[in-house]
Amino acid sequence: MRLKLLVAGLMMVAQVHAGPLPSAEAPADDGPWVVRAYFDSRSQFDLAASQSEPWQVDHRLGYAVFEVADRADYDRLSALGLRLAVDPEQTEVLRHPLGDLRSIPGFGCYRTVEESFASMDQLTVDHPTLASVIDIGDSWNKINHPGTGYDLRVLKLSNSAIAGPKPALFIMGAVHAREYTTAETVLRFAEGLLARYADDADARWMLDHHELYILVHSNPDGRKMAEAGDLWRKNLNENYCGATSSSRGADLNRNFPFEWGAHGGSSGDPCSGTFRGANPGAEPESAAIITFLRNLFPAARPPDLVTPAPSDTSGAFVDVHSYGRLVMWAWGFTPSGAPNGEAMTALGRRMAWFNGYRPQQ
Ligand SMILES: [Zn+2]
Repeated sequence: MRLKLLVAGLMMVAQVHAGPLPSAEAPADDGPWVVRAYFDSRSQFDLAASQSEPWQVDHRLGYAVFEVADRADYDRLSALGLRLAVDPEQTEVLRHPLGDLRSIPGFGCYRTVEESFASMDQLTVDHPTLASVIDIGDSWNKINHPGTGYDLRVLKLSNSAIAGPKPALFIMGAVHAREYTTAETVLRFAEGLLARYADDADARWMLDHHELYILVHSNPDGRKMAEAGDLWRKNLNENYCGATSSSRGADLNRNFPFEWGAHGGSSGDPCSGTFRGANPGAEPESAAIITFLRNLFPAARPPDLVTPAPSDTSGAFVDVHSYGRLVMWAWGFTPSGAPNGEAMTALGRRMAWFNGYRPQQ
């Protein structure tokens, strides 16, 4: 475990957004806008907040951020005595969430599978020495219904002009299809690093001297169902629960072979949301991930439960879910500490310090 690597990564995520300063000029157009509303007192803020839910409040600096629909809305807020300033950059995002992308109905901030892949491809065009895409395998649909389904695509970030070996960070999102935000989060993490590479020392250090592997969509078939509003969680394996059942598929997150099905926490019922699959590591998506990871992180310790990896072992693995507000580390199947458990505890607590989540084994 390389502490510095992940800590720097989280600092990127937490970095405060810095765009053009809000303008105090009254807007000339008809809205909508994102507005910073500066208040003089708590009661003034409370009155404004009782009429419209703020996006964000900073009591220390004395302002709240509101989405303001139109001129009447703007005047109403202004009449409460708040000093208003339009944030041009956030207003642009509000009006055009992601350019002209189609996005998920009702969730304009999240890109679809196709849009995510298009963004990944664009990153490789814009940053040819820093970004590339690796196809690590196929989804269940792609294998079983040719012409449908998806590749499992890993976005690799590293400066290819600087020779390795370099420590690797692997991040996976959206293994649970309906957890929309995880794919977007990991993709924006990549985009943020690339955007800051030219003038941010941390971003440059990350990309020059490490390899980042980001599997944005670990379960693209399921995600496609979720994007239609189905609250889909599992993959689309039609051998479980009936070929057309809306409860079909395996919970890929419970299909990985380590302690598979041994300690509760998963189900043997093919219709269950936590069905672990018929065989460990045998779903096409989980099998592809396992093969890729075993190659990326050669075993540094024997396959027992007690021998630690040498302290100079490098590499980190992060699986992003939504939502729990937790930073969790191994083991999950027993409260006993893992070998290297002390180091993982330190790392997990450090990560949680950055984002305010609860750290726990
Ligand atoms: Zn999950």
